[in-house]
Amino acid sequence: MSVTTDSGAARATVYGYPRQGQNRELKKAIEGYWKGRVTADALRATAAELRRANWRQLAEAGLHEVPTGDFSYYDHVLDTSVMVGAIPARHREAVAADPLAGYFAMARGSQDAAPLEMTKWFDTNYHYLVPELGPETVFAADSAKQVDELTEALSHGHAARPVLVGPVTYLLLSKPAPGVAADFDPLTLLNRLLPVYADVLADLRAAGASWVQLDEPALVKDRTPAELNAAARAYRELGGLADRPRLLVASYFDRLGEALPVLAKAPVEGLALDFTEAGAGNLEDLAAVGGLPGKRLVAGVVSGRNVWVNDLEASLTTLGTLLGLADRVDVAASCSLLHVPLDAAAERDIEPQIRRWLAFAEQKTAELVTLAKGLAHGTGAITAELSANRADLASRASSPITRDPAVRARAEAVTDADARRSQPYPERAAAQRAHLRLPLLPTTTIGSFPQTGELRAARADLRAGRIDTAGYEDRVRAEIQEVVSFQEKTGLDVLVHGEPERNDMVQYFAERLTGYLATQHGWVQSYGTRYVRPPILAGDISRPGPMTVRWTSYAQSLSDRPVKGMLTGPVTMLAWSFVRDDQPLGDTARQVALALRDEVADLEAAGTSVIQVDEPALRETLPLRAAGHPAYLEWATRAFRLTTAGVRPDTQIHTHMCYAEFGDIVQAIDDLDADVISLEAARSHMQVARELAAHGYPREAGPGVYDIHSPRVPDTEEVAALLRTGLKAIPAERLWVNPDCGLKTRGWPETRTSLEHLVAAARTVRAGL
Ligand code: GLN
Ligand code: ZN
Repeated sequence: MSVTTDSGAARATVYGYPRQGQNRELKKAIEGYWKGRVTADALRATAAELRRANWRQLAEAGLHEVPTGDFSYYDHVLDTSVMVGAIPARHREAVAADPLAGYFAMARGSQDAAPLEMTKWFDTNYHYLVPELGPETVFAADSAKQVDELTEALSHGHAARPVLVGPVTYLLLSKPAPGVAADFDPLTLLNRLLPVYADVLADLRAAGASWVQLDEPALVKDRTPAELNAAARAYRELGGLADRPRLLVASYFDRLGEALPVLAKAPVEGLALDFTEAGAGNLEDLAAVGGLPGKRLVAGVVSGRNVWVNDLEASLTTLGTLLGLADRVDVAASCSLLHVPLDAAAERDIEPQIRRWLAFAEQKTAELVTLAKGLAHGTGAITAELSANRADLASRASSPITRDPAVRARAEAVTDADARRSQPYPERAAAQRAHLRLPLLPTTTIGSFPQTGELRAARADLRAGRIDTAGYEDRVRAEIQEVVSFQEKTGLDVLVHGEPERNDMVQYFAERLTGYLATQHGWVQSYGTRYVRPPILAGDISRPGPMTVRWTSYAQSLSDRPVKGMLTGPVTMLAWSFVRDDQPLGDTARQVALALRDEVADLEAAGTSVIQVDEPALRETLPLRAAGHPAYLEWATRAFRLTTAGVRPDTQIHTHMCYAEFGDIVQAIDDLDADVISLEAARSHMQVARELAAHGYPREAGPGVYDIHSPRVPDTEEVAALLRTGLKAIPAERLWVNPDCGLKTRGWPETRTSLEHLVAAARTVRAGL
């Protein structure tokens, strides 16, 4: 096969597009199918119509080649498992009987078979289903979905490029199947997997693909020499096939680093690299390897992760530099547009002036086309677009929304002392003991209580104007009353108000902070049919007034026991929002921290002695490469301390994280300097307690003793056994008793009994001390 590339002008392309449709038609169709209200054929027809609409829109916008295969009923990694025949044994029968129903059974579980595990797709908020592999795995090509979608696009008259998860990334994202040794390395299956990819490539070629894109984002992480060798071998082999389309190997989310020379040398026709800030270093690295002579370079210059208009002139400069480094340079978003909402123009509630700063998938596509035109024909061909872009960027840069002098002056004036508690931990601990007078092994919960249907209905009624604010708040107060009286009756030591007023732990605060934008239609897929509308950190952040004090104080007025104040921490506020791209993340975190610091102060002034600041996202925002960890952890832990350090020594600061693996951030957890941390631990039999102990963690900890991820009720003896296990690692003076996480997804009946058992277990173990 020759390595000539299509000659001609630069073109614009994307790797993938939001799947849901303008009005989340896909979600509705799939959920209807699950409930038996939509037939499989009707679901397929809706899906085909959505694909067709996307392609038409991309083509009309001026894209020369549309992506195919990026569509998914649930998840594209699960689709890849189907494509290579890696169906877990427990689902095989269901898949054979009814492929569509079997597919959803793998994603969601069935009566007799657990689903595949779900985990985050790199550092995004999209979740994929983890492939399960083992030495017995037999791969077999099933290219039907890829071929059908390509054929569909071609039949609509589009030039199309199938997009597949690459074989190396597929294996690197996999885990040993149940029953397979934990140290089994899926990468050892590469030799068996490559022939399957060869078959799929041949099928796609036969169906009319001239290019196929293989996504290898896993290669942007720190990789061992063995892994890099596997990548070299994979692309030597696939590149050497006689019967294949041209291959574009795509990377995104970070720089390719050591994998760049490997792929540059591989016998493939194109590489896609991230040239946004996330991929900083790629440009220099590419120059250092002498560019990509004879190859197609697809340059991701428009961020596929943020929601901001591109700086077109800056992108053109980058593209101009790249022109000298490859045979042909195409313009792309840095990654699939799956991670951004569909259309900023739909946001009628956002001021038009501010809306012009935003670029969602549709606007980003238009930017790509403009850039390609500018690159091909010179800036003279896009003068109108450039001047409009310049005006938008200037309006954003000079707006009082993005530049609030008071916020900036305050952030500037922050000193190290502001981020340090006034006394070291041992002295604080003594003061807190005297002040709170808690028993050994104090019991508490993580914050939320069941979000009942009535609560959600009350919020919907408020939005629809069926009830007024006063009526809604009566509902919330009634709920708080019930939650507090239940906790008192059950005998919990540190109470919570239950968070009934919160729709979402980030959105609730975003709606109460100046500088945050909310969207009406800004849905982004989180997993399957779950879509979220992340708020947008658009400007400088300030707090017009207290956000939670009223509810916490009300709860405290109902009880003599301490009620914990409950806030979402600055890192999580950033992680689950769209962030600014015009200042370092650490600066945004500091502004959020200062606003939260005032909330902490107001809570304390209102008589709150225990304040929890949740940071479940601390670990998930960790940069993909280890080289980026220290700088991230530095600003992240500092933002937490800035939020919390202003309190009196006898005010107890708690934090909470929702995962069991935190070995790589245990020092950072220590650096938060929180008085108490609660973590998930029930499923791992208190593993975190041992890890904290091994690290020498000096403060109090509550490894979860009640797994809240299912309705199952743990019995008292089971909880007591976990506590005794915890006591082997953490002394009784520093051990708390709590569930793994909040209870908002649970129902009341199981919550009641489980917490009764939790308190009973604490009493039993206490009595034996
Ligand atoms: N306080 C929150 C709750 O209980 C914490 C949620 C979380 O950790 N994700 O719901
Ligand atoms: Zn949690």
